[in-house]
Amino acid sequence: MKYAEVQNCIGGAFVSPDGPTLDVYDPSIGRVISRVPLSSARDVDAAVSAARAAFPAWSSRPIKERVQVLYRYKALLERHIDELSALVTEENGKIASEARAEVLKSAELTEFACSLPQIVTGEVLEVSRGVECRVERFPVGVVASITPFNFPNMVPNWSIPNAIGLGNCMILKPSELVPLSARRIVELLHEAGLPDGVLQVVHGGQETVEAICDHPDIAAVSFVGSTRVAQIVYRRATSHLKRCLALGGAKNHLIVMPDADREMAATNIVASMSGCAGQRCMAASVMVAVSQTDHIIARMVEVAKAMVPGRDVGPVISAAARERIIRYITEAEAAGAKVLVDGRNATVSGREDGYYLGPTIIDYVTPDMRIATEEVFGPVLVIVRAKDVEQAISIENASRYGNAASVFTESGGVARYVMEKASAGMVGVNVGVPVPREPFSFGGWNESRFGVGDITGRGSIEFWTQAKKMTTKWNKEAGVNWMS
Ligand code: NAD
Repeated sequence: MKYAEVQNCIGGAFVSPDGPTLDVYDPSIGRVISRVPLSSARDVDAAVSAARAAFPAWSSRPIKERVQVLYRYKALLERHIDELSALVTEENGKIASEARAEVLKSAELTEFACSLPQIVTGEVLEVSRGVECRVERFPVGVVASITPFNFPNMVPNWSIPNAIGLGNCMILKPSELVPLSARRIVELLHEAGLPDGVLQVVHGGQETVEAICDHPDIAAVSFVGSTRVAQIVYRRATSHLKRCLALGGAKNHLIVMPDADREMAATNIVASMSGCAGQRCMAASVMVAVSQTDHIIARMVEVAKAMVPGRDVGPVISAAARERIIRYITEAEAAGAKVLVDGRNATVSGREDGYYLGPTIIDYVTPDMRIATEEVFGPVLVIVRAKDVEQAISIENASRYGNAASVFTESGGVARYVMEKASAGMVGVNVGVPVPREPFSFGGWNESRFGVGDITGRGSIEFWTQAKKMTTKWNKEAGVNWMS
């Protein structure tokens, strides 16, 4: 095995829990590169004890002091970018440029956290003669972050810098499919000066997550993953009276108008559906082609056909994922859809056992087909035809998800109409991947998010803190009334 068995990090020490382990694969070659422990409730409990022990000292440091660690961490992310992106490529399969972009995004997220002291300044007002009210934000305590396989470096960094910068101590539970990046994240934070116990890493799967949801000393749980598991985690964590923000899956609709710029639309849409092998919660999944857009589709087919698996498109995460995606395509074809670009038989020379698929574009899909409503999570775009923008919006609005939506048009009026009417938390105009960048917050609507607030940017401050309202009176002349 290329890497030793992955360990938990508890109280600053790397430890191997007892119990079962799971193989970790490099999806580009289909071979085992490491093993990950499946931690038990006892391991979660040990992590919580370490976090509780670290909390009083960490939370009482001034925020300006806490973020000094994050300044140094950001510099370390940049200094180690080659090594960190190589790890992402190995455990997740992303091509080199995508893995690098992911680590750069982690640096941007950390940069935002460095600015928290400028943002979380409290409020103060004299509310009656000599009586002052002020609001200050305090950390919630020991918190947890449960993350998915598709961004082994970035999604942990959605929560870690903001949560710890705001004074919390955290338990990170990475995806068991991609556990390697988490070790370097916690090592670099310690190198940057993070005290032991502020961040624990506990590896595992369902049992570990359930123990996190159930633990009485974890105050808040953030989750990113599929809608099925987001619902399980949200229900379980809130049943234990914790605050919970659970981000789920997606089925993003891109509405393409006949007046759209042909080249811009075609290249952006293909990049969105095929980037990271389609394994992004912001990936284009359904193109709603309004009226006469065949000239744009023809160009998309050219762009997609020119892409080379292994060079431009990485593998999907597992053999099972590859089979599932192929089943969706085959079923749609059997139901009468037309496969314009077929990536089912992709192979990469020298990596024949990798889980590769080429970009796949399927036309004449009807809104009731499974491939048009369920999350496929692969490099697959379906095209649904609509006669006008109103019909396109009604197709988009019928989705149970609501992460992202976009419109491609030259008309400001149509763009504004779609921005208003789309039932999604993140909407783009002529943008294939409408990710809000810091300081703006990331988060969807409908079954793409359970709980209130967003996971990054300003929106996350509410989730990771609690406000204390303080009323003070120092001068005797202030007088007395029924309120103060
Ligand atoms: P997943 O739901 O299978 O796993 C996510 C986490 O949940 C992992 O840490 C896993 O160990 C844990 N888990 C899995 N099954 C569980 C169970 N039964 N009970 C408790 N915990 C369980 O998701 P994934 O396959 O790793 O990631 C892909 C999904 O994540 C896609 O649906 C994608 O859209 C979504 N995603 C969403 C966002 C967003 O911002 N909305 C971002 C990234 C990924």
